[in-house]
Amino acid sequence: MNTTDGFDLGPVLAWLTANEERVARQLSWITQLADDYSNVVGMENVQIRPSEITKVLSLFQGPAQERSVLRNIVGKPPTWFAVGTTSDRPIPTEDRLKAMCPTAIVPGYTDIVSWTPEKKVSDIWLYRIPEVPDRIATFMLVHALIHEYSHTILNPLWFCGKEPYVIDVPGCTEYTGEAFMMMFAHEAAKHDPISHYAAAYRPFPDDPSDKQFIRNVGEELCESVAAYFMGFIYCNDPVRCWAPFAGRPIVKLLVEHFLRGVHKTD
Ligand SMILES: [Zn+2]
Repeated sequence: MNTTDGFDLGPVLAWLTANEERVARQLSWITQLADDYSNVVGMENVQIRPSEITKVLSLFQGPAQERSVLRNIVGKPPTWFAVGTTSDRPIPTEDRLKAMCPTAIVPGYTDIVSWTPEKKVSDIWLYRIPEVPDRIATFMLVHALIHEYSHTILNPLWFCGKEPYVIDVPGCTEYTGEAFMMMFAHEAAKHDPISHYAAAYRPFPDDPSDKQFIRNVGEELCESVAAYFMGFIYCNDPVRCWAPFAGRPIVKLLVEHFLRGVHKTD
């Protein structure tokens, strides 16, 4: 696979469309009654409701929510990956004519512009999905929101400055953020990418001090969390699409540790 193929969501859209009813059953929990998520800005035109956002975020347990540095969820207009995008330099554009292809759609992004050492906050941007039926767009945005929320948990774990960031997995073990990501990279690299999108970030650099290391491994982790909660994810193996962790129990266990770990502050 050409490594930029992962930026073209065309195969994902085609798969979601072909499996629309089964995906809808699998994600039926998002339509259950919930209060509206309140920290939203300009989401009117994005195809996911504030109550659905609440349901998605409620998947994450207390420790993961406490570690997340999410501030606001911000709605954005349709955006594409532009010609020239690579895994180390994704180029967004609102001009469809500059897109790598019409389905090289950007569904979500985690913005760290407001992040300072004193005030670690990130906003999640969710984009209107263009030229797609609303229900399919919502499926994509559920995936994108789980993925981006995982970034808001991952960011402090890795970019913690001089203080080691330690998570304690109750009754099990504890890790520094760095040790956790190294172990996750080591285990994930034994397998094919968890998803079509994650394939754009393989192979992982061998050297963790390479700034590309955390981007590549982080994308695999965020996609793995999405697969974990949705119970499916589009990938290169039609059977594994519906059983994303088949044959990779240790990767699944590490995803659970990532979600259950309590930030140790003493
Ligand atoms: Zn990501």
